[in-house]
Amino acid sequence: MAVPKSKITRSRRGMRRSHDALVAANPNECPNCGELRRPHHVCGACGHYDSREVVAMVDDVDLDEDAA
Ligand SMILES: [Zn+2]
Repeated sequence: MAVPKSKITRSRRGMRRSHDALVAANPNECPNCGELRRPHHVCGACGHYDSREVVAMVDDVDLDEDAA
């Protein structure tokens, strides 16, 4: 097993962790439905991208369809 040669000081550990912070999401408004969506991603609410529908949306999914 690899063993560290010397102690990492609080300062060096802090310097390494200075890049570890999470950045907040930067959502845009969907031009079609106004819902917030991630930039360069298909809208999860209406399935539109670049002002056209690329993912067909189903209004109501009946989960009990083949239960009987
Ligand atoms: Zn949308």
